[in-house]
Amino acid sequence: MQKIKMLTPIVELDGDEMTRILWQKIKDILILPYVDLKSEYYDLGLPERDKTRDQVTVDAANAIKKYGVGVKCATITPNAQRVKEYNLTEMWKSPNGTVRSILDGTVFRAPILVNGINPLVGNWNKPITIARHAYGDVYAGVEAYVPEGGKVYISLPNGEQKLIKDLPSAGIIQAMHNTDKSIKSFARSCFNYALSTKQDLWFSSKDTISKTYDHRFKDIFQEIYDSEYKQAFTDAGIEYFYTLIDDAVARVMRSNGGYIWACKNYDGDVMSDMLATAFGSLAMMTSVLVSPDGNYEFEAAHGTVTRHYYKHLKGEETSTNSVATIFAWTGALAKRGELDNLPELVAFAKRLEKATIDTIESGTMTKDLVGLFNLDGVTPKGVNSFEFLNAIASRL
Ligand code: NAP
Ligand code: MG
Repeated sequence: MQKIKMLTPIVELDGDEMTRILWQKIKDILILPYVDLKSEYYDLGLPERDKTRDQVTVDAANAIKKYGVGVKCATITPNAQRVKEYNLTEMWKSPNGTVRSILDGTVFRAPILVNGINPLVGNWNKPITIARHAYGDVYAGVEAYVPEGGKVYISLPNGEQKLIKDLPSAGIIQAMHNTDKSIKSFARSCFNYALSTKQDLWFSSKDTISKTYDHRFKDIFQEIYDSEYKQAFTDAGIEYFYTLIDDAVARVMRSNGGYIWACKNYDGDVMSDMLATAFGSLAMMTSVLVSPDGNYEFEAAHGTVTRHYYKHLKGEETSTNSVATIFAWTGALAKRGELDNLPELVAFAKRLEKATIDTIESGTMTKDLVGLFNLDGVTPKGVNSFEFLNAIASRL
């Protein structure tokens, strides 16, 4: 069989532990037999990050900027225990944080839907994608406990002393910020991703109460939409709409899904955990980082599945779900195919996704899904990590 040719490399960011094992296997049996894979490989495994003093992470992020599409395996974010375990020279920063700050991107998380694994909300028959603004607000807040009460001010660069509160007694105060630059990047990433996936975009905040702060978010989104994206949205047959966060929550519950919900930092933190739980499993959740100038990095939303890796090292059988990692690859291959006008590559990515979903719907799945699965006439069978991948391969 003729392998599918590629024009531009995909930036490949390898990772750690169990996901690193699955990564290699996914490439070997699900991709390399069908695609003449062009990839520019960066090893973000912790030993290599330590050896290069984390330069490899920076280089990988810059390569994504250069080529436009990357795919990333889960990586360890070291803590004190990992510093010991890997004998690290430093407690390196989260690779995701490093890549995100270089690409100035926004993370979009979407569930992978399969018949038999039903969302807790019965009317959600299409995925709901959450975009979380990952800069500022309460995460960069400055707080104080004021034991005696008294007047508390914010001083502004123009010399104005703005009274926060004349506290009648002891209490707490908080100040927070955001920047036009970051909000604009967030808005453009959201508009680009909506166009790229042909889904409506919702944005919510609390501008009725927060008349300067949240209102600024609302205005920036609207200005950028009107001046840069309106025509493209009309041409794509999709819509942008703004609503209050309270109204958004009510609409989400009543909806059938199939849209992107852009959230401010705190709303996105809370709502993404709620949606992940309601859709079933973190192992069935993909994540894509989109930069405002249109670069994409695809990954699974889960981590390196450490406990399974230690079992694997002891020679014990594991049943680790590789679906989100497979979908990270198909997302990257399809995007590359779309940008390079290679319909065969896009079609292959869709075929691999379908083979993966069909495998589960026919009853073969990793053990994490068995308890969640409920489809008339199909008895779920839990298989090990590699049997699952082989079952998908047999359908390709
Ligand atoms: P995790 O790797 O997502 O695993 C947490 C638990 O969730 C697992 O022990 C497992 O439960 C279950 N699980 C997650 N993914 C699964 C899968 N694909 N198949 C089956 N079960 C799955 O999170 P963590 O234990 O908090 O973190 C482990 C390492 O990953 C840490 O070093 C952390 O820094 C890193 N991490 C990386 C990323 C990233 O690169 N994007 C994200 C999060 C965490 P059972 O053990 O009960 O089976
Ligand atoms: Mg959270």
